[in-house]
Amino acid sequence: MAGLNLRKAPAIIILGQASLATAQRLQQLYPEASIHGLNGRVAGADSGYESFGSTLRELYLQDTPIIALCAAGIVIRSLASALSDKDVEPPVLVVAEDGSAVVPLLGGLGGVNVMAREIGAALSVAAAITTSGELRFGTCLLNPPVGYALADLEQGKRFVSDLLAGQSVRIEGDAPWLAQAQLPADAAAQRTIHVGCEARPASRDELLIHPRSVLVAVSAESAELAEHVRAALREANIAEPALACLLASDQHMALPGLHQTAQQLGVALRFAAPAVSLAEMVEQSVPGARLSEHSGLLVAVASAPIDPAQVGRGRGRLAVIGLGPGAAELMVPAVKRELSLAEDVLGYETYVRMAGPFRPDQVLHNTDNREEMQRARHAFELAAQGRSVVVVSSGDPGVFAMAAAVLEALHESTDPAWHQVDLQILPGVSASLATAAQAGAPLGHDFCVMSLSDNLKPWSIIETRLDLAAQADLVLAFYNPISKARPWQLGVALDVVRRHRSGATPVVLGRDIGRPGQTLRVVTLAELLPEMVDMRTMVLVGSSTTCTLPRADGGTWVYTPRWYPARS
Ligand code: SAH
Repeated sequence: MAGLNLRKAPAIIILGQASLATAQRLQQLYPEASIHGLNGRVAGADSGYESFGSTLRELYLQDTPIIALCAAGIVIRSLASALSDKDVEPPVLVVAEDGSAVVPLLGGLGGVNVMAREIGAALSVAAAITTSGELRFGTCLLNPPVGYALADLEQGKRFVSDLLAGQSVRIEGDAPWLAQAQLPADAAAQRTIHVGCEARPASRDELLIHPRSVLVAVSAESAELAEHVRAALREANIAEPALACLLASDQHMALPGLHQTAQQLGVALRFAAPAVSLAEMVEQSVPGARLSEHSGLLVAVASAPIDPAQVGRGRGRLAVIGLGPGAAELMVPAVKRELSLAEDVLGYETYVRMAGPFRPDQVLHNTDNREEMQRARHAFELAAQGRSVVVVSSGDPGVFAMAAAVLEALHESTDPAWHQVDLQILPGVSASLATAAQAGAPLGHDFCVMSLSDNLKPWSIIETRLDLAAQADLVLAFYNPISKARPWQLGVALDVVRRHRSGATPVVLGRDIGRPGQTLRVVTLAELLPEMVDMRTMVLVGSSTTCTLPRADGGTWVYTPRWYPARS
């Protein structure tokens, strides 16, 4: 996506199966884009949606570039109510379902024509460009490429109108991308395109563009650090849009104030190993930059735009995520976002596959042959190098899954780089909750969650806990109820439970819930046999108040009332 000033990956929206092939060609062009297909009409999309109009409006308002494979009219009608501020909108394009036409509709300042040309080139069709300035000059002057920022949009619009009206222009400063543009250039022109860092208002005859070539080194966090940086830039007579990134010592990587400051200023925060002096640290990060000190901060001005990704390194991130039971709709949006940001993905192959599809640049580590602690350490090793790492669990990562192992690995480690990693645990819908929801509300009152696996704890503990939980009349949710290596345990567990519960107690068996071929059964405790259960089953055993009622579709609702009878 070089040259495109996009903040977000595009969404490719399709309404029918016939568009999928074109959508996939577009995805090759924009590998980070995801294909959204209408539920029930499209198989093989990355995600599904119910309503075309509300999906489109939601993406538009979230500033997501939209490529819709349908008639332009449908998109115009759908977005009409959301169109308000033309200066801040994402690119919106329509592409004919057979790939024979591409029409940029909205987002001229967000680079829609650049995308239209890229798509046109990929599909071997001409892009339907209608923007006058763009047609005349072959580029949108108001949308400079990555590394450059326009000083004043309104001023810029007037400037482009002047050029369209016949004025000629000359260029001051370094603007390599304009070399290909067909500008009415004239060394004696009154109108100038000025490329420079300095802070000053654009003159009437000028298009002022700031190269993002400034770095400020920050050594500590303070409440007013953002203001402090702004003051330093003012003192140095540098325009704020010229700021490309902040640089700090990697010892300060975890300080929240630094990250907030970078966010407030809308720039990247990068880290370097502390050299002998701050000046040396900056010198190593942006060789050849002009250094000066203002308001006690070190300001570095490079001769060309700075690519923050090339400066020092970023803070590594490790997210332990829960996929939910399996169905994409049951995955929380924060998890989806994290998966799209991931550079490395670790987990059991089945779960990693469930979390996909992934882009070719994402590294998948299928770690079936490793035990949990080893996988957790591997994740930290990668994140401590500055990478963005995701560890995948099914259901919720904190329920008999990777989150605790990751924290244990961190607890054991004395490596400061591991402790500075941005660690996030993102929840998911656990199997007991997904199963309960399908059965009704069996967990509607107090309940107890247990793993019946004695791989990591002695069997005697399991029996004691079962006995006490059953005695306390808690609803019981069993994870890992049985496996080939643990064939007899479930039978013994049920014997313990039966000491305290009547044979009529409802039991819910959810197998592969939220996955293809899911089954849900309701039996009684008396009927329940270990053969009805396997390692992909969730077992919910009711309490004395759990009851059932018939569903109109022939099934059974199971619920545990909120109240509990008073006991003498
Ligand atoms: N972290 C997971 C649980 C891992 S333990 C979660 O929160 O759901 C694995 C056990 O969870 C399995 O043996 C099974 O008992 C249960 N389980 C996981 N996914 C399931 C599903 N989709 N349907 C039914 N049970 C499931």
